[in-house]
Parts: sequence; C-alpha cells; structure tokens
Amino acid sequence: MFNKILIANRGEIACRVAATARKLGIRTVAVYSDADAHSKHVAACDEAFRLGSASARESYLKGALILDIANRCGAQAIHPGYGFLSENDEFAESCEKAGIAFIGPPASAIRAMGLKSASKQLMEAAKVPLVPGYHGADQTPALLQAEADRIGYPVLIKASAGGGGKGMRIVEQSGDFAAALASCKREAINAFGDDAVLIEKYLQRPRHIEIQVFADTHGNCVYLFERDCSVQRRHQKVLEEAPAPGMTEARRSAMGEAAVAAAKAVNYVGAGTVEFIANQDGSFYFMEMNTRLQVEHPVTEMVTGHDLVEWQLRVAAGERLPALQHELTLTGHAIEARLYAENPDTGFLPSIGTLARFALPQAASFNRDSLVRVDSGVREGDEISAHYDPMIAKLIVWGEDRATALRRLDAALSETQIVGLACNVEFLRRVVACEPFASGAVDTGLIERNREVLFPAPRAVSAAMLAALCLEQLAEEVRQMGVSNGNARRSPFDAVLDAHGNSSGWWPNLPSVRTLNFTRGEEPFAVRLRFTRAALVIECDSTTPSLQATVVGRARAGRVDALVGEQHVVAQVVRAAQHKRVLFLNGWRDEFTYVDLLDVKADAAAHGGGLASPMPGRILSLIAELGAAVAKGAPLLVMEAMKMEHTINAPAAGKVISFRYAVGDQVAEGAELVEFAPEAA
Ligand code: ADP
Ligand code: ADP
Ligand code: MG
Repeated sequence: MFNKILIANRGEIACRVAATARKLGIRTVAVYSDADAHSKHVAACDEAFRLGSASARESYLKGALILDIANRCGAQAIHPGYGFLSENDEFAESCEKAGIAFIGPPASAIRAMGLKSASKQLMEAAKVPLVPGYHGADQTPALLQAEADRIGYPVLIKASAGGGGKGMRIVEQSGDFAAALASCKREAINAFGDDAVLIEKYLQRPRHIEIQVFADTHGNCVYLFERDCSVQRRHQKVLEEAPAPGMTEARRSAMGEAAVAAAKAVNYVGAGTVEFIANQDGSFYFMEMNTRLQVEHPVTEMVTGHDLVEWQLRVAAGERLPALQHELTLTGHAIEARLYAENPDTGFLPSIGTLARFALPQAASFNRDSLVRVDSGVREGDEISAHYDPMIAKLIVWGEDRATALRRLDAALSETQIVGLACNVEFLRRVVACEPFASGAVDTGLIERNREVLFPAPRAVSAAMLAALCLEQLAEEVRQMGVSNGNARRSPFDAVLDAHGNSSGWWPNLPSVRTLNFTRGEEPFAVRLRFTRAALVIECDSTTPSLQATVVGRARAGRVDALVGEQHVVAQVVRAAQHKRVLFLNGWRDEFTYVDLLDVKADAAAHGGGLASPMPGRILSLIAELGAAVAKGAPLLVMEAMKMEHTINAPAAGKVISFRYAVGDQVAEGAELVEFAPEAA
C-alpha cells in the first residue's frame, strides 16, 4: 500500500479521499488554486501546494505541474477525484510514464470510453444493448438532420465529449433540428473543446439506472449493484438511491452482467459506473461509462458496507478486490440528496456567495456506519464561487427500508440551514415528499411533471413567523443599544425578552406601542406591537385573515424561543445582509426584508432591478435587434456562466436601446447588460 498520495481535486471529493487515506494511515498532499487557499480540503490534508489562479485551467487542470509536485513531495499515487483530470487519458498516461500510480483505470480504458460515440461503437461490438440512434464520425449537418428524421422525433442531440448534463438538446420536430444542433455544438466546444455530437431517440418516461463496477489487475471484475438516479433537473442528478425502486433480482443480475461485460470489453481496472437508460417495462440500454468514482458513490457504500475509496487505493496498489461477487450483499436502502447553490424558482440558476450560515443535521457524521452522512467541502464562512461546480454538500441517509430512508432524509434536510446564497434544500424536501417519488414511481421527467407541487406558491405568513421576526429585531436593537451605551441603560423591551412573566426592567414611561415593517417578496407586513406587563401582543392586518397573538419569549443570537398564543415556537433568524432576514421555522425557510423607514437608501437599492447579469459570466451572443419591438419574454442575449448557457429575456414588451457589452466580454454579477425601454402602458 502507498505511504503518501496526492489528491488532484478540491471540495467534497478531495475531503472524502483524504478521510479514507487517513483511516489507512496514508499521508495526503493537497493542491489548490488561489480561490481555495484556505479551504477545507487543504486543511484536511497533511501537505498542500499551490497550483495557480482560480480558473480551473490555471490550477486543477494543470496536469504537468501536478505530476511535478507529486514527484517532488514523494507521492506514490495521484487520486483525481471526479471532474477535472479524472477522465483525462493523457494525464493518466503521463502518470504511468512517470512511475506514479494513477488511482483510476488505465489510460486506454479512459480513452475507449471517453467519447460517447466511440464507446457506443465498442459496446455495439460487445453486444451491449444501445438506444436507437446515430453515433458515426460524419458530422455534416445535413447528414445529422437526415439521421434524426430517420430515428424519428423526439430525438436527443448529445455532445460526444459531454458530461455533467451539459451539451444536450431535445428536439421535438424536424424543423427545430438545425437551430438545436448549432446551440448544442456551441455549448460543446465551449465546455469540452470538441463539438462532435451523436443523436439518440429520446425515450419517454425513462429511468436512469447505473451499475457500480469494480475491477482489479488480477482479472476480477464485480458489480456493486445499482443506483437509481432518475430524479434529475437539466439532465443532472438531484437524488440518487439504491436499490432502484421495483428492481427484481433477475433484472439486477442482467444489468450487473451487462455492466461487467462493458468493463471487460475495455480491460477496465478500478471503480467505474455503467449508466443505462431504462424503459418502464425494464428494458435497458447502455448510455455511457463514467471511468471514475462517481458523485453518488456513498449510496453504494451505505448499502454494501464497503469503502469504495479504500477499494480504489487497494486496487491501484496492486491488491486484489476486497470482495468477490458472491461475497457482496445489498442491505437496506440508501439515498443521497445533492445540495446545490442554486435557485429552483429561477430555473435552477446557480447562485454564488458566502455561507453566512451552514448548519448541518445534528446526527450527521462522516462515518460510513452512521445513518446520516454529510460529505461536504465547505464550512460556514466559506465562499461558493463561480469558478467551480455549485454543489455545496451531499446528504446521504440509510434506512432499513425505503420509507425509513425517506423519513430520515426529510428530517436531515429540515435540520439543514444554509444562508448566504440560494439553495435547493426546501425543493429537495418537496421532491422527497411528493407522491410519485414517495411511492417509487420515478422517471427522469418527475420534476417537470410535478411542477405544481414542487414549485408551490409561498406558504401563508403565520403569527409564529412574525413573532420570531419581531423578537429577533427587538433583541438585536437592545444588544446594539447595550453595545453603544456600554450596557448602562436598559431597554423597555427587556421585559419582553427576559420574559416568562417576569416584568422586571419594564419602563412604564416609555412608549409601549410600536410598528415593525417587513416584506416578503413584494408583500408588505406591518406588525403592531403592544407591550403589556407580561407579554407582547402582535397584530397584523396585512394578512387574510388578520393575525393577532400574545407572545412571551426571547431571542438570543437569532435563536427565538417563545410561546406564541398556545404554540411553542423555536426558530432561527439569520441576518443575511443588513435588512435581509432568513427565518428557519419547523424546518422550513422564509426570506423577509426588514423595512427600516429611516433607511430609504437601502430600500431604493433593493428595488433597483433591471436587466442585470444574474451572475458573473461571459456574453455568448446578442440576439435582439436594436430598436426593434420585442414581446415580453423574448430572448435578448445569451450568456454563459458556471459552464451553462443562460438566456436573458425581455422583462416586458418593449425595445432594446443598447447592449452594454459585446460578445466575449466578461461581466460581473449585477452588471447592467441591456438598456431596455418598456412599451408605454
Ligand atoms: P455523476 O454522474 O457522478 O453525477 P456528473 O456527470 O454529474 O457525474 O459529474 C460529476 C462532477 O464532475 C460534477 O461535479 C460535474 O460538474 C463535474 N464534471 C463533469 N464533467 C466535467 C468536465 N468535463 N469538466 C469539469 N467538471 C466536470
Ligand atoms: P452526461 O454525460 O451528461 O451524464 P448522459 O448521456 O449520461 O450524459 O445523459 C444524462 C441524462 O440525460 C440521463 O440521465 C437521462 O436523464 C437523459 N438522457 C440521456 N439519454 C437519453 C435518451 N436517449 N432518452 C431520454 N433521456 C435521456
Ligand atoms: Mg451520464
């Protein structure tokens, strides 16, 4: 076994690999970009070396530099994690040449599976079933169009070099093909440096079921069962579970054996995943093979009890697989939820920012044997930047059966508090609770088809919410007063805050009525407060029906503990910015703005709006014609950020006066992109 390895990655996967290395007594070397100099993965390793500036090209993709560092510090092996260099055959080859073990498959296997089209030709020869489609080398647009027409619509155009759900376009009819092809090629060249595409029949209501395979250098190859990753948005996984709902023993071994055949066809070694797209009737087709450890590998670890990173290290060191097929068992049910920095309500637009609060479930630990596990590469105070993937953490739970695992996942999500950027935590809770998912009726269209329950109108504002916001506001005012007065003066609100019927400190000569104003989105809430001897009475007419409640309780450091009417309320209020209040109550999250009537400037800024860039990125194309009338929702320009294309649409009917940037320009978040004149009403 190795004494020292270098981890050529960042974030949660670098931390994950470091944890197993530590368990095995292997020393670890981290590499990092300037953006990650103080990151968790650097702290998790024994040594660390700087690679360069933040962009991946200047840091985590610098294979030669990474190899050089490994040589200099005496690392015997390199673990590439996922993404970055993990599926780079040239890098794997350079490692082989330099006598440093690449903890992954041989370069030849990566190359064979690297391009979806070439791998399909191989699989065809190995008699692994394929989706009807075209995966030839001829890329003439007219030929591709003819192939699509032959296959029959809808079809899916895929970048052959694609990954991470990027570079894919569904085409519903022949007339739309040319435009979709152009846009797919543009995204592909941009993201993968290769614009070759393949075409597949777009299956209706399919499931994504993948098989974890593992092979050693002694000729053993096993499958560690399946993972169902059907719940996706933008063709990218959101929830992953094992076993797949409704899986039968017969189908499991058929898929397992097909996956092993695929791996053997390329002389595979190490951890790999064979992805299949399956019809509801259970028939399945090869989609692609990912020649690396997968994001969702913890699900498999939980149901098999094996540490897959340990397997990787043992195999790379020349050992035999720790278990053979007949020794592998599948126990209980595991499910993983990916916590992404993104806003489900704006089409899952990635979000960036500093994690002002990052609170995880109490029960969570990294231990593989625990029921709730969190794999994350960030800590409170860390930043999620636009340079890398927007995944914040993975929450993985285990249960004796699926229903138990789902309950546990919901509980874990309800204890997860993330403030400072948009996050999909609540969305995940709704998916977990929705009927089709709960009953195991999954397919890749589940999210789209259940929009109504998954994207509900905001919940009604309750007395508990308003009480929590008011108590927090009062407590913070008292605290600030105490700070500025050196605690010399007591406040009239102390009675309420110290509370529980104790009115000592009450100053009867000060005003005992006050109004606090909050907004949620565009909705205003004026809350009248009346201080009585023992309690605070709140009233709000902005809601229907109007609310009134007697409140006794306190708030300290944002934690509210109060009796509101007859309800015991425990809540957390986090100040995300000066006026922004994020309220966590009963596991749900609500955002409010405190309206400080004295601070008009902040209010004006909050209503700025306009056609601002939602995130840092680059302008790809300007679509609208200057001065020409456009309808509301018409595309004005396309930008690229976090490896995705985003279209900026007209907020209303009107016309574009000018574009503030040219194609290729880099723009900052919030930058005004377009001068737009709405049509006079
Ligand atoms: P999985 O099937 O394991 O979920 P994904 O395809 O979603 O894998 O990708 C795994 C991770 O690697 C994601 O974080 C994704 O953003 C990243 N990734 C995938 N392809 C690339 C690529 N070509 N370059 C950089 N990162 C990538
Ligand atoms: P990536 O390399 O981005 O992971 P995949 O080829 O694995 O690309 O496909 C990603 C997802 O796109 C699948 O999980 C599935 O939801 C959807 N998909 C892929 N191929 C098809 C198809 N032929 N029909 C329907 N959906 C598909
Ligand atoms: Mg895939």
